[in-house]
This record gives sequence, C-alpha cells and structure tokens, in this order.
Amino acid sequence: MKSRLTDAWINGTRAVCPDTTPVIDPASGQSFAEVGLCSADQISDAITSAEAAGHEWKLTSAAHRAEVLLRVRDRLIANQNEIAEIITGEQGKPLSQSIGEVHYAASFFQWFAEQVRRQESRLVAHPEPGREYLLQPTPLGVAGLITPWNFPLALGAKKTATALAAGCAAVWKPSELTPLSALAMGPLLKDCGVPDGLIQVVPALGPVAGQAFAQHRGMRVISLTGSVRTGRTVMRAAANRLQKVSLELGGNAPFIVLPDADISQTVNDLLQLKLLVSGQVCVSANRVFIPEGLQSMFIDCLQDRLADVRVGPGNESEIHAGPLIHRQACDAIEAKIQAACNEGATIVAENRSAPQTSGSWFAPTILNNVTDSMTVACEELFGPVISLLSYTEIDEAVHRANDTNYGLAGYVYGRDISQMRSVAERLEVGIVGVNEWRPLRAEVPFGGIKQSGIGAEGGTEGMEEFIHWKVLSLPR
Ligand code: NAD
Repeated sequence: MKSRLTDAWINGTRAVCPDTTPVIDPASGQSFAEVGLCSADQISDAITSAEAAGHEWKLTSAAHRAEVLLRVRDRLIANQNEIAEIITGEQGKPLSQSIGEVHYAASFFQWFAEQVRRQESRLVAHPEPGREYLLQPTPLGVAGLITPWNFPLALGAKKTATALAAGCAAVWKPSELTPLSALAMGPLLKDCGVPDGLIQVVPALGPVAGQAFAQHRGMRVISLTGSVRTGRTVMRAAANRLQKVSLELGGNAPFIVLPDADISQTVNDLLQLKLLVSGQVCVSANRVFIPEGLQSMFIDCLQDRLADVRVGPGNESEIHAGPLIHRQACDAIEAKIQAACNEGATIVAENRSAPQTSGSWFAPTILNNVTDSMTVACEELFGPVISLLSYTEIDEAVHRANDTNYGLAGYVYGRDISQMRSVAERLEVGIVGVNEWRPLRAEVPFGGIKQSGIGAEGGTEGMEEFIHWKVLSLPR
C-alpha cells in the first residue's frame, strides 16, 4: 500500500510541500511511499527559523547538549528494529546491516556527547605585557547538511550529532531516493529535547536545496557527503558567499594483498567489505592488488566463498547482500564490466542467487585481469564487483594504488607488521585498514584527500568543521 508518509520536518512539526516524490523499494522496484519535496522558499524559511533556534542553542551548557545527545543515542538503540526497517525499505540493504547502521549512527551521538564536555577554551600568551589571548571555540551558525542514499541514517546522524555538540543549528537535506530515515529523525530528536527549528529536515531535489543553501545569508557551513561531481557544484555555489564547505566524496580504494597474507582471512574480509550495501560504499575496495604468485589460490578461495553468498530482499533472513539502489545503477555497472571485458578482463565467477523479480538486482561478480587504465579501475564502481589486478613488486603496487585522483580509504592485508605499516604509511588516503575491513569509527577523523574531499568527520577533529576559533585579546 502506498501511503503519503510525511512531507518535511520544519519547526518541530510536519510541513506540507508543494510537490511529492515516490520512494521506491529497490527490492521490488515498486513505489511504497510519497514524500514531499520542499521548494526553495520553504528551505530558505527553514534556514531562517533554524538561525533563530541556533541563537538560543549556542548558549546552552555543554552538559545540557551532552544530555540531549545521549538521549538520542538511547532512543536510536531502543528503536533500532523499527528504524532498521525504514532503512531497509528505502535503501534495500539487509536488515542486519541496517541495524549496524543504527548503531553506527548512535555511536556518533555518544562520541560527540562525550566530546562536547571536553571542549575547552585556551589562554595564549600575548607578546605585550599585561595582556592575554582567550581562544574560544564558537559555533559557526546554521549548517546545511546534504547526504546520499547509501547510509540514509548514519551519514546525516554523524553531521547532526556534530552540529548539535558544536552549538549549531542544521538544515538536513537527505537524498531524494531515501528521505524516510531522515524524516524519522525529526520527531525522534524532538522527543529527546532538541528544540523546535534547531534541526530541520527538508527533502528536496539536490539543485533546489543547493541553491537555497548557497543563497541564504544565515547559512554558514555546508557539509556534503556525495559524489565528486556534486562536491564541485556545491563548492562553486558556496563561493558566492564564501561559505565554509566540508566535503566527504567518492573514493577508489586500493586493497593490497601482501605476499604473506592469510588468504582465507583476507578473502573473508574482502567479501564482507564488498557485500556491505552491495559495494555501494565510498570506502569499498575498488581495486584488489594480488601478488602474481598468489593469484590462482586467491581466486579459488574467493570463488568458493562467493558461491555461499545469498542475495535477496533485505527484509528476508540470512541475506548477505540486497539489491542496488535502482536499475540505472545496475546498467551503468554492467556497461563498465562489458567495457573491461572488451579490453581483456575476464569474469571468473558470478553469484546468481538473486530472485528473478523486478528489483534492481546485480550478481556479485569476480573480474580478473583488470588493468589500471580500465574504467572499472579508474572510477568508483559502486557495486558488488571484485576487480582483481596483479602485481610483482610491493613498491609497484603502492605506486599504482596511489595513481588515482581519489584518496579516501585503503586496505593492506599481510602478516609482517612492519611491512604492512610501511605500505599503509605510503598510501595517499584518509584512512587505512590494516587487516581490518571496517576501520571507520566515531572515535577517529574520517575524510579524504585529493578529489575525495575536504575536512573530516568524527574524532576530536570533526567538531572543527562546525566551529571557528574566536580570539579575544584581553587586558589581564
Ligand atoms: P550525489 O552526489 O548524487 O548526491 C548526494 C546528495 O547531493 C543528494 O542528497 C543529492 O540530492 C545532493 N545533490 C545533488 N546535486 C546537488 C546540487 N547541485 N547541489 C546540492 N546538492 C546536490 O551522490 P549519491 O549518488 O547520492 O551518493 C553516492 C556518492 O556519495 C558516491 O560517490 C560515494 O562515494 C559518495 N559517498 C561518500 C562518502 C564519504 O564519506 N566520503 C560516504 C558515502 C557516499
């Protein structure tokens, strides 16, 4: 049954929008909800109200903000099943992964609740006698949050938790493909004590929200998680008012298997990484570098494990991977595989366990003999395709791994700690998992270099995106 679940969440209540958009269940290809699309004027008004709410919020104590954030964490965990169903419904990932996403989201509320209590002003020596400097971390004002569809809850939760802790108001524009998780956060935040207007949720088309954010005088920082192309557009638009930007963009992660790696463990981890959100993750392994001598053993092991994978609707039990976000994503990946095969790559295995329904199903695939110049290796593939490249020397693998415009994440698998560390230190990326496929946590800053982004989320550094250091030069 198709229901009009909600429009926008503005000033602590539901707001009707002039247009609507269907939300499609990727497993069936059918629309199951209608959601509002805000107009530019509506977004602009929402920013103005957020600004007013922010003036009061920035005066609240750190202890109060921490208390509210911890309530949000508790509420997310208490409602994890219900929220996970929303995520799976609109995004398609298996319920177990959606529950993992709820916990990941909650971890940011916990982390920033702890961080805000430790945020300190600093005294700095003044070169003139009888004076001193006081440096105060000061909230920037209203933050515009723009998020993609692959982690519809967690990526907005990261930003929301940080903005609230920093003392900012925020206007969150979720992906038009997956707005329901964000909209569910509106009433949840209110129940936890977030004042009306402080966090607005405005589903809208990207360019409409982008322009409204860029044109509003009260909008001080725009934090986007999305593609490199959208990152450029947002940065260009922000240039008009010189708004601060924080950009978490795409990647082309190398996964380097060293000659002494434990093949069984490496293959297990690689498969988990590639099946997370069916490979539609910015930090998913896009290029797997294997030493020439290990190739056939590695492929045999990978084929064995891949055969046991079950692809299906995320709300069924014992499913390892769900559908892709839509049919266009399947077609784009299919075309890139075809192009790679025309240039000499070979498909060595496909898992065809997906149901034969109208959903956007894509068979997890192992692609061998991939070379550096193929599109599958140059661009973020965003799907369950394991592209295998071979190498002879470790230095050569590192050099090729870095030969890309992206610099988000990387992985190194092996046994010799000093060798793994040396490779990890030479990778030009924001984060490296050494014998670990999920290194991202609330405790550490995560952000890309090169065209993968500007700034970082999480860790003690994450708060910097939403504050400026105000300096008072004072007589003693
Ligand atoms: P996308 O760039 O198409 O969309 C992301 C968001 O930007 C959406 O909400 C969209 O509506 C909005 N948008 C589109 N055009 C806009 C405009 N002109 N102005 C303002 N906003 C606009 O990306 P997507 O397809 O939703 O997500 C996939 C991409 O996100 C991949 O490249 C992936 O690597 C990246 N991503 C990065 C991270 C990270 O942490 N670095 C995490 C997840 C996803």
